[in-house]
Amino acid sequence: MKIGVRNIRKEFDRYPALHDVSLDIRSGELIALLGPSGSGKTTLLRLIAGLEFPTAGRILFGDEDASNRSVQERNVGFVFQHYALFKHMTVEGNIGFGLSVRERASRPSSAEIRRRVQELLDLIQLPDVAKRYPMQLSGGQRQRVALARALAIEPKVLLLDEPFGALDAKVRKDLRRWLRELHERTGHTTVFVTHDQDEAVELADRVVVMSQGRIEQVGSADDIYDRPQSPFVFSFIGQSNELPVEVRGGEIAFGGVPLGRTDARDGSWRMFVRPHDFEVLAPSARGLSGQIALTRRVGGARMAEFNLADPARRIEVELPAHAPSEAGTPITVMPKRWQLFA
Ligand code: ATP
Repeated sequence: MKIGVRNIRKEFDRYPALHDVSLDIRSGELIALLGPSGSGKTTLLRLIAGLEFPTAGRILFGDEDASNRSVQERNVGFVFQHYALFKHMTVEGNIGFGLSVRERASRPSSAEIRRRVQELLDLIQLPDVAKRYPMQLSGGQRQRVALARALAIEPKVLLLDEPFGALDAKVRKDLRRWLRELHERTGHTTVFVTHDQDEAVELADRVVVMSQGRIEQVGSADDIYDRPQSPFVFSFIGQSNELPVEVRGGEIAFGGVPLGRTDARDGSWRMFVRPHDFEVLAPSARGLSGQIALTRRVGGARMAEFNLADPARRIEVELPAHAPSEAGTPITVMPKRWQLFA
């Protein structure tokens, strides 16, 4: 099922949580809504679910206007971080719940429900837990059961709000891989909310980066890392340095030090550079110079920070293997790759 979000505005007591948001979600796509707290991710997800209604704009399911349809009519499955399982019901009871409360005409027989529940337990790779209660499961197992419950009603669309938010790092990682595989098997159109960029890029076909009630960029992981379209996306995704630079006749300069050439017009610009996009030069070379203040490891890479005097700025660069990294070591770098924003 493809979903169209058309010029959505959502106000809460006149406070705009979303401004003119438009988005096309393809059928079968796995989409991440990524952004800082308060950027409007959950609001957008709830509008797609039918748990909220837009102040203006439309939500299309397929080619039909679903803006005024209820949650049930939209046939969406959802899992929220704090949307707990029913404690007093077994796993079987939880997963079958959505089917057992259907109106008589469309309610499957109890034998049929049991069969469907078992199928779902196999799908979430917990075939033997039907008779257990939620308290007898681990956090990651409970989250998988919550997903099975959402899938039981055979939704056309699966909506997940920080589905792995409360779990520890190792379980989150396993569940991500598992969800990606599940998605490949079932092919449900899936939208999930996260503020974890690693989770977004690892799982999603496309990432929707949001800030302050607006979509900043929609794209693949490569698009948002390598071709960010705004200063917000550049600094929100991955590490970045920002330098206030001047452009004169195609020459970029920072505090009088020439840094490279550009087609950009004369004037003041914001130059953004990733730590691995600096070249580390001999300390005597012309470039951005200082003394290493501190180093740290990020995954396999060694990062060094140093201060520029004029204008004052802290720069973070990735050091090449074997480069000295003691505090106080002189360092000179030049940007190899950058983006300028007005
Ligand atoms: P988080 O990551 O913290 O969950 P989010 O990106 O999901 O944030 P939303 O929950 O969509 O952000 O909230 C967007 C804005 O709308 C926030 O400023 C929030 O305070 C406001 N908001 C959301 N729901 C309501 C509501 N029911 N009543 C009033 N304001 C709301």
